[in-house]
Amino acid sequence: MKVWQIKAPNSVGLQEVHENITPDTVKVKLTQCVLAGSDLQSLRGLADTPYPFVPGRLGVGVVSEAPDDGLKRGQRVAVEPYIPCGECAACHTDPRQCLDFAIMGRNGDGLLRDFVVLPKYCLFPLPDQVRDDEAVFTDYIALALKALDRLGIEPGQHIAVLGASPIGLIAASLAIYYQCVPILIDGRQERLDAARDNGVYYTVNSNLTDVNKRVIEITGGRLCERSVFCMAGGEAPQKALSLTMKTGRVAYAGYQPFNETCNVNIIDTVTKSLSLVGVSDGRGYTARAINMLANAAVNIKDVLPAGVPFDAAGSELLRAAASNYYLGMLINITV
Ligand SMILES: [Zn+2]
Repeated sequence: MKVWQIKAPNSVGLQEVHENITPDTVKVKLTQCVLAGSDLQSLRGLADTPYPFVPGRLGVGVVSEAPDDGLKRGQRVAVEPYIPCGECAACHTDPRQCLDFAIMGRNGDGLLRDFVVLPKYCLFPLPDQVRDDEAVFTDYIALALKALDRLGIEPGQHIAVLGASPIGLIAASLAIYYQCVPILIDGRQERLDAARDNGVYYTVNSNLTDVNKRVIEITGGRLCERSVFCMAGGEAPQKALSLTMKTGRVAYAGYQPFNETCNVNIIDTVTKSLSLVGVSDGRGYTARAINMLANAAVNIKDVLPAGVPFDAAGSELLRAAASNYYLGMLINITV
């Protein structure tokens, strides 16, 4: 197996490793993976786990070797990147309820590799109509679904989505499916244009527009019933509170950043009786996410630019680490 490792801050290398399957594990030939903002933070030296480790939280592939039952060789699968601790009380009854799970690419090895051996329960079969370049975003879709679920959205509600990050674009697309009215806010016009092409009618450029004023116009003075703030989406976290109406709900959603603060003044929360929820994983929503893809209920077009080849992943990561603009990176694993 070929594995890209982050060996130390600003250092990556391709390694050869060997791993065999057990009765409870399956070997998967990965076809695509996505490197998120947290992977870049690891490369920049912000990781709170020891080096070296393998980045990459999102992945899709095909079963290459499996025990006799269940998944068969040739079955396409999406990876749910959460591994139960195996030791807590929950793990002894239902490992899926474990609260101390490891996350691939964060505090466990990730998916920037050609083959991987994983527990069976991390793998979800893909229907034929879902392409790999859609299914690779399954964990982003799962996380956005979880955020909307926890917000208790209802048809007709205005939902401010702050940050046109991959998760922000997906959340806006899902909001449309649930007959809500997303208002997507970002300072990058090309991201807003991509969202418009995907059917998001209301977009607000936060660099050019008074966002509060514009949202008041769009909502007829009511503000938004719900807001989704996308971590690392580039918007100010306070804005999510100011754009939400009294008794509304706000989700702070996205992969948990390393060693960073995200400050808000809670006065709005108290005076407007807002409810806040945090969502940093899509665990438990993977099957739903795949079903949304199978039913073309979520649009992932332009979520990320075209993929880069596996062999170039190391140099592309180093290049991204030196720049200020990074949305994530889609890797095509054909080696
Ligand atoms: Zn556990």
